[in-house]
Amino acid sequence: MNARQPSAHPAHGNGQPEDSAGLADERLRTPREATSPLAEGAQKAASLAEGAQKAVAMDGGASCVSGKDRMLASAHASGKSEVLTQYAKDYPKGPHDQPQSMCPAFGSLRVGLRMRRTATILSGSACCVYGLTFTSHFYGARRPVGYVPFNSETLVTGKLFEDIREAVYAQADPAQLDALVIINLCVPTASGVPLQLLPKEINGVRIIGIDVPGFGVPTHAEAKDVLAGAMLQYAMQEVQAGPVAAPRTGKSALPTITLLGEMFPADPMVIGQMLAPMQLAAGAVVPTREWRELYAALDCAAVAAIHPFYTASMRVFASAGRPMVGSAPIGYEGTAAWLDAIGKATNTSEEKIAAAKQAVLPGIKANLDRAPIKGRITVSGYEGSELLVARMLIESGADVRYVGSACPRTDMSATDRDWLEARGVHVQYRASLEQDLAAVDEYQPDLAIGTTPVVQKAKEKTIPSLYFTNLISARPLMGAAGAGSLAQVVNAALANKTRFDTMKAFFGETGIGDNAGIWQGVPVHRPEFKAQVRRQQEKRAAKRAQEAIGT
Ligand code: SF4
Repeated sequence: MNARQPSAHPAHGNGQPEDSAGLADERLRTPREATSPLAEGAQKAASLAEGAQKAVAMDGGASCVSGKDRMLASAHASGKSEVLTQYAKDYPKGPHDQPQSMCPAFGSLRVGLRMRRTATILSGSACCVYGLTFTSHFYGARRPVGYVPFNSETLVTGKLFEDIREAVYAQADPAQLDALVIINLCVPTASGVPLQLLPKEINGVRIIGIDVPGFGVPTHAEAKDVLAGAMLQYAMQEVQAGPVAAPRTGKSALPTITLLGEMFPADPMVIGQMLAPMQLAAGAVVPTREWRELYAALDCAAVAAIHPFYTASMRVFASAGRPMVGSAPIGYEGTAAWLDAIGKATNTSEEKIAAAKQAVLPGIKANLDRAPIKGRITVSGYEGSELLVARMLIESGADVRYVGSACPRTDMSATDRDWLEARGVHVQYRASLEQDLAAVDEYQPDLAIGTTPVVQKAKEKTIPSLYFTNLISARPLMGAAGAGSLAQVVNAALANKTRFDTMKAFFGETGIGDNAGIWQGVPVHRPEFKAQVRRQQEKRAAKRAQEAIGT
């Protein structure tokens, strides 16, 4: 079996997954069997990837921070044009055309790891797999991540595909699994490792092979859509072929609304209560936690695109004829508009829509009035729910000036975008870190909600700040519960300003910039050294520019 389980922590062994060179040596000693059922796939893989594989295999420095263009060109040359062209349409790039947050493949990995009876195998460079595995266990994966390593030779000869195929056959145990996900990371995608040639099913275990390169999928949020969309597409073909399993809890007696996007576990229940007066029920949440939930997700009256960037998944729902509704039941106005839109999409009577609103809106208003938020706030994140959070903050009384999302502009976010822009908020899709930081500089907020580097910078400026992912996404947002919950954490953070000022007064400039680190004495500034280093850097940059012109 070639699927390895890399160590999840540097303390295990040497802190690296098993070294690809060592494993490759072992594999290279295995005689190639011309009659092997795997040989045919390997030959196809080799011919598909010839040339392009060599280019990437020899490019030892190619990664998400360098060699992007070469990897992209290699991927196109090695048979990945179709998938990359689709990604370019689904996930249009912005001012930054490479990931600025964690490796995008983490999104797909996480979706697979959270599903019951689903195993995931990564195919990629050891360093990438190590980082992804570490992060997945940091976020409580509680199950192994499979790994098929490679070296230049297995990549160039197509043996890597043979190894993947062998691993897939070894892992596809129907007693344990409904589905087996194989994820091509950057180098195998650039090299054209043809996961599409894997069997679609082995002993009843569905095989889902996807390419999730950092040079094709800009954020980990959109990588969730890559896998969710592939699974929905597969499930739809099963539905079209014949009867499928019912949901574990049985089929809903009421028409359901499928909820698109990961959310706080209580939110679907809150949404279900809101829908009840309209004789509707909350349906499956996509990405699902189990394969059979995919059938339930497809079998819905309408889809609520709570997170608006699930473009591939929405394409499948559209092909199944399901109407889609953007935004979410957030705050007073947001909830009222969302219930109207859901009612319209499902042909619900005005009386029932009015009853649903009457049941929930007074409670939301009461919570918003009870816990007002006073202060100027900037919001930035990469989850895709940034616009929703900004709406809630504004309805709570906050002065929100800027919302940056790493996700792209889509039709499903139009309602929230229009609502925010009508209130003078600058909405920045595909926001770069530089834009998020510039917003903090420009608007001087009382609170900055953002990603790790934004929070770090804000704290340096004595601006209270909150991590979007850990502290905002991890709480209820919908309905009355959301109104009270968000205000609690935001007001607590706003009240911290005096503590930041006290700390700043005490520490002064200690540990800032080139004063950082441990010093035996008082740091001595050497402006002449800085000037020398700057001159050297400028010379190197000029030389690189000249070389680029010459090539
Ligand atoms: S797989 Fe992820 S970490 Fe590795 S090079 Fe690609 S984007 Fe970077």
